[in-house]
Amino acid sequence: MNAARKEVDRDEIHTRPKGMWRWHEMLPVQDPEYIVSLGEGDTSLLRIPRVGKEFGLADLWVKDESSNPTGSFKARGLCTAVSRAKELGLKKIIIPTAGNAGGAMAAYAARAGLQALIYMPKDTPSANIQESRIAGAQVILVEGLISDAAGMAEVKAREEGWFDLSTFKEPYRVEGKKIMGYELAEALNWTLPDVILYPTGGGTGLVGMWKAFAEMEALGWLEEPKRPRMVSVQAQGCAPIPKAFHAGAAFCDFWPGAQTVASGLRVPKSFADRIILANIRASNGTAVAVSDEALINAQKKLAAMEGIFAAPEGAACLAALEELIKQDWVKPDERIVLFNTGSGLKYLDPIARY
Ligand SMILES: *Cc1c(COP(=O)(O)O)cnc(C)c1O
Repeated sequence: MNAARKEVDRDEIHTRPKGMWRWHEMLPVQDPEYIVSLGEGDTSLLRIPRVGKEFGLADLWVKDESSNPTGSFKARGLCTAVSRAKELGLKKIIIPTAGNAGGAMAAYAARAGLQALIYMPKDTPSANIQESRIAGAQVILVEGLISDAAGMAEVKAREEGWFDLSTFKEPYRVEGKKIMGYELAEALNWTLPDVILYPTGGGTGLVGMWKAFAEMEALGWLEEPKRPRMVSVQAQGCAPIPKAFHAGAAFCDFWPGAQTVASGLRVPKSFADRIILANIRASNGTAVAVSDEALINAQKKLAAMEGIFAAPEGAACLAALEELIKQDWVKPDERIVLFNTGSGLKYLDPIARY
């Protein structure tokens, strides 16, 4: 960071070719030769004025991550981790996943020429299974949830020497995801919004952005020191973070029988639960759980009123916002950014059941 403070000029970064690697000084790959890119990052920050008007909000935005390679923001983290794995000379990478992380890892592993092994629940959306297999990854479908997949991947990694890319068990994915925070600040002329709603599974995006805000403060890049209130959004069928947050707990309990159509949120206990909860509290934020029915309705609203076909996880943020409006937790003139973390097109089968 000290080197970055001296050498990097935020306004010069703006003039570089588009994409996440504009910010390479902030990322862990040392030699640009090892960067394995598919064109990730620099996603749109879109105003949603019609929904804003209906909700009585004047300054409402979506950071739309659906345009990333493999159709979700998981590309950012896996791009970074796979590039770094390549730089470190690793040949075999393994991941337990709720879906999109597996698809992203498979694509970047194919591009890097690395061998990929993926453990995912057998009821993961078929798009995730197919995108992984077509990219040449070996996919093992697991009875149970991501937590069960993680246990199996861990044993396999230890026994056969695979590099484990599980959320927060390696340091690189969170670095890739933090770039969302840099892009957001840059798009808002080096200010941050009042409120960010973020759909939380393992929590890399939330933790990563919070880290980016601290880095930008240390670099002196922000026009005002004000940080956003962070809202962690989960589904009622798997809501360990809201439960722990409202109970005043420092850790989450394992959520038994996790079930939601927002498969990226089906994480019964994040490895980084303590950090997620601490970051939400430090931001004066909150945590909200929404029903699957509410998030599916929000998905329809966002598509029909604004043309954004969000992943169920991203749509959950709009449903959570409706709750926060009822609680007077947000004010009409506040600048609010919802994160749409993926494309609705990856969920055609699961959402057809509604
Ligand atoms: C993985 C995932 C999430 C949760 O992201 P974390 O950073 O792990 O909390 C949200 N939305 C989608 C579409 C995902 O694939």
